[in-house]
Amino acid sequence: MAKATDTKSASTAKAATKRSRSAAETQKIETALTERRDELQAEYDQTLAEITELQRERLTDSAGDDQADTGTKTLEREQEITLANNLLERINQVERAIDRLGEGNYGYCEKCGNAIPVERLAAFPSATLCVSCKQLEERR
Ligand SMILES: [Zn+2]
Repeated sequence: MAKATDTKSASTAKAATKRSRSAAETQKIETALTERRDELQAEYDQTLAEITELQRERLTDSAGDDQADTGTKTLEREQEITLANNLLERINQVERAIDRLGEGNYGYCEKCGNAIPVERLAAFPSATLCVSCKQLEERR
């Protein structure tokens, strides 16, 4: 006497999405990114200190400098500034990565959708391709 119509409704289980990462993995990536950010930040601070130092040298003991010395110091300072700007850009990249990680859309290959390994993300926070897709890309 049981109704036969109510028995077949459980077949709607969603196909497992590739976009899933365990909380532990997400945590690991976040730690790696945070460490990287701190490293870059320390490097950046040091570079800024060096720039300040170079600037001070330029202003204080330039009395005996000839033009070549002044030129060298200016060049040194420009190189330090370029370095500082590069570091700042990398810090921004890592911070954007941390933001995207929080939103749950960071660290997946743009090509195949697979999760990019934690080690790769730690080394290249701005990586958007997994290693195999990257290699395919480079071979073209
Ligand atoms: Zn891929």
